[in-house]
Amino acid sequence: MQLTDSIGRNINYLRLSVTDRCNMRCFYCMPKEGIVKRGHEAVLTYEELQLIAETAVELGIEKIRITGGEPLVRVGLTAFLEKLAVIPGLRHLALTTNGLKLAEMAAGLYRAGVQRLNVSLDSLKPQTFSEITRGGDLGRVLAGLDAAEQAGFPPPKINCVIMRGVNDEEILDFAEMSRSRGNSIRFIEYMPAVKEEGWQRYCISGEEILQRIEAIHSLEPVDKGPFAGPSRDFRIPGARGSIGIITAVSGHFCSECNRIRVTSTGQAKGCLFSDEKTDLLPWLRPPDRQGLAAALRHIVSGKPERHEISQDGYSHTNFTMSQVGG
Ligand code: SAM
Ligand code: SF4
Repeated sequence: MQLTDSIGRNINYLRLSVTDRCNMRCFYCMPKEGIVKRGHEAVLTYEELQLIAETAVELGIEKIRITGGEPLVRVGLTAFLEKLAVIPGLRHLALTTNGLKLAEMAAGLYRAGVQRLNVSLDSLKPQTFSEITRGGDLGRVLAGLDAAEQAGFPPPKINCVIMRGVNDEEILDFAEMSRSRGNSIRFIEYMPAVKEEGWQRYCISGEEILQRIEAIHSLEPVDKGPFAGPSRDFRIPGARGSIGIITAVSGHFCSECNRIRVTSTGQAKGCLFSDEKTDLLPWLRPPDRQGLAAALRHIVSGKPERHEISQDGYSHTNFTMSQVGG
């Protein structure tokens, strides 16, 4: 079955958030004090998340990415993933993590059936990394990357948010990582989600990031795989890893958007940047598969044609990035 929205986009990708809690406090994602903690009952149980996943796959979703907050902090995650991995019709199960707990969890994630890991990593300098994440330990994340490969994963994809004056001097170091370590690097434009003071100075376009790499390396375009998101991908000739640019803010990302999102409290969204959301709880408590399927179809058919953000900022009010899962 294919899930198609009102303008003909094939929607085959669900980003499923399992928690809004996190063991880091990246300044562009979360306020310093963290987010208001929700009661236990507000967060979907694994059974409820499983029902959403199964229903979405029956409708035509082929890829699920587990995200958060930080998914690896939720107790019982590996057992949940084992059940998710065997949903008939699910072709790709991936997970995005900040990597802090990866060293101890990578082998279990691999055994559970996760096929691909994305690790968020914004600096290769311990001090800068600690400043961006408000105390994160770079060494643990790098150990996590090694552990993932030892467990059997392909080199994790690296998500790197570039911010002018913070880590833009490291663009070429990350590009080099695609050659030296074989990780595929995806540079993500900084989005003013928290609107921290003076956020405008951080903005740097994907185009400028690309130009800075092209000033040093010739880049060849790379064919995207069947589940690729809306990034533009290149490769330094001979490198194992690719270099992708996600121009969510400045670019024309929307025409290729293939995803929907569900938060850990059961709010479904057709667009990261829209305030529109559908509460799935009425079809989860008690469980109602048909109602849930109708609600998910409604999200897809109401998916906005494009987002309204620009580098002047955007005005959504009802979530933080850690609640929606990026
Ligand atoms: N905690 C996990 C992690 O950091 O990978 C998963 C959740 S995190 C919200 C998912 C992605 O969103 C991360 O790659 C993060 O860098 C990105 N993100 C969060 N806030 C962002 C912002 N303001 N601009 C651009 N990307 C952002
Ligand atoms: Fe946590 Fe990921 Fe947000 Fe950083 S980007 S605060 S690691 S949820």
